[in-house]
Amino acid sequence: MKSTKNEALVAESLYAVSEKIYPRIVMGYFTRLKTLSGLVLLGIYYIFPWLKWDNQQLVLFDLSARKFHFFGITFWPQDFIYLTLLLMLATFALFFFTSLAGRLWCGFACPQTIWTDAYLWMERLVEGDRPKQMKLDKAPISFRKFRIKTVKHTLWIVFALFTGFTFVGFFIPIRELTQTVIEFNLDGWSTFWILFYAFAIYGNAGWMREQVCTYMCPYARFQSAMFDKNTMIIVYDDKRGENRGSRKRNSDYKQQGLGDCIDCTMCVQVCPTGIDIRDGLQYQCISCSACIDACDNIMQKMNYSQGLIRYTTENELDGKPSYILRPNIVIYGVILLAIFIGTIFGISNRSLVELDVIRDRNSLFRETGTGLIENIYKLRVMNIDNQTHNYKVTVTGIDGLQLVKNQEIIVAPGSIMTLPVRLETEAINLKARSNTVIFKLIAQDNPELLVEEEARFLGPFN
Ligand code: SF4
Ligand code: SF4
Repeated sequence: MKSTKNEALVAESLYAVSEKIYPRIVMGYFTRLKTLSGLVLLGIYYIFPWLKWDNQQLVLFDLSARKFHFFGITFWPQDFIYLTLLLMLATFALFFFTSLAGRLWCGFACPQTIWTDAYLWMERLVEGDRPKQMKLDKAPISFRKFRIKTVKHTLWIVFALFTGFTFVGFFIPIRELTQTVIEFNLDGWSTFWILFYAFAIYGNAGWMREQVCTYMCPYARFQSAMFDKNTMIIVYDDKRGENRGSRKRNSDYKQQGLGDCIDCTMCVQVCPTGIDIRDGLQYQCISCSACIDACDNIMQKMNYSQGLIRYTTENELDGKPSYILRPNIVIYGVILLAIFIGTIFGISNRSLVELDVIRDRNSLFRETGTGLIENIYKLRVMNIDNQTHNYKVTVTGIDGLQLVKNQEIIVAPGSIMTLPVRLETEAINLKARSNTVIFKLIAQDNPELLVEEEARFLGPFN
C-alpha cells in the first residue's frame, strides 16, 4: 500500500498513555505533617456526622426540611447570605495561602491528595512498597497475583462505599441511614448517591490519582497567577546540587567537579506525580514535600547539610531578600479578616425571629360603628429557631391604641405564619394623618426572643 505524506502525519500520536507511578514510601518532618493533616481531615469527614450537638446531628444538610444544622446553629434558606460569606471566606483563604506558601492546599488539604494517600497506604499494606508493586505488576498472571489484587480492590471498594455512605450521611441523618442500610430498605436516591460517590473515590484516588491534578483540576492551572518571587515554593537548589553525579561517601567530590546531588533519584521515586523536581518548577508539582524529606534523608546519610530541595522563594534563591508582607498578602489578609469578623458578627447577632408588617391594601383606614378609627394589617412571623414558640403581639406608639383579637401566634421551627390584626383608637388620639406604631413580638417561653417592627397608622387628620 502506498504511503502518502498525509498518512505519515496522522501516524503521530496525539495522546500519550500515562505510565503507572509507584511512589516510594518516605519518612521525614513534612511527611509526618502531611499524615497528621490527612488524619485530622479524614477524622472530620468520617466522625463529624456521628456527633451530636443539642440532640441534633453536628453537621447535617437536611435538604428535605430545607435547613442546615452546624454546631448547634440551624440555618434556613433565608440565611443564604452566610453560605455566600463562607464561599467568599474559602476563596480569599485560598488566594491568601497560595500567595504566601504556594500550593499548600494541594499538598496538604485537598481531598484528592488526602484520599489518594489513603489509597496508596492500602496499596502498600497489601502489595508492599514500590519495588514489590513493580515486580508484581510485571509478573505474569498467577493465583498469587490474582489473590493480592483481589484483596486490594476489595479493600478499596469497601472504603469507597463507606466514604459514599458517609457523604450521604451529611444529607440524611446518619443513624436513620444506617438503620435503612441494615434493614435493606435504602431508597433509590440514597443508593444512587452512595454508589456515585464511591465510584468517584475509587476511580479518582485508586486509578486516576495524579492525572486528576494534572489534567482535570482547574485550580492547578490558574494558581501560578497568584505566585510572585516571594511566594514559598519547593525547589531544587541547582547552584548547590550541580554537577550531579554518584561518588563515594566522604570522598572530596568538589575536587571531582561535583555538586551536592548524588543523582540517587530518590526525589523522583517518592514523587506522587512522577516528575523530577531538578528540572525546575513544574505545574504537575502539588507541593507535597515528599522530595524534601527524601533528599534530606540522603543528605543526612552523606553528611551534607540538608535543604538541597527545600521550601524557599525565588528571591532567596537569587540571593535577594524575601518579604512576607507585600501588597497582595495585605489586601487578601484584610479582606479575609473583614469577611471572617463579619460572618461571626452576623451569626452571633442573628435574630431567631423575623417580623414583616404588611398594611391592608384595600383601605387606608375605616371608621367603626362605635366611632373608632381602624387600620388592618397582616403580620408575617418567621421562626428561625429550631423549636416551636408561642409569640405574643403588642403594639405601642399612639395613646389608647387597641389590638383587636389575635394577640398570640404559635409558629413551628423554620415556619412562616401570617396573623391578621386590627388596630383601633379614637380619632382624637391621632396627631397626624400618618402615625408611627411599633409592633412587638415576644416569645412567651423566652423573653430574649423578641423583634420590633415599625408601621404606619393612618387616620382622618386635617
Ligand atoms: S516534585 Fe516534590 S513536592 Fe512536587 S509533587 Fe513531586 S514530590 Fe511532591
Ligand atoms: S534526592 Fe537529592 S541527592 Fe538524590 S537525586 Fe534527588 S536531589 Fe539529588
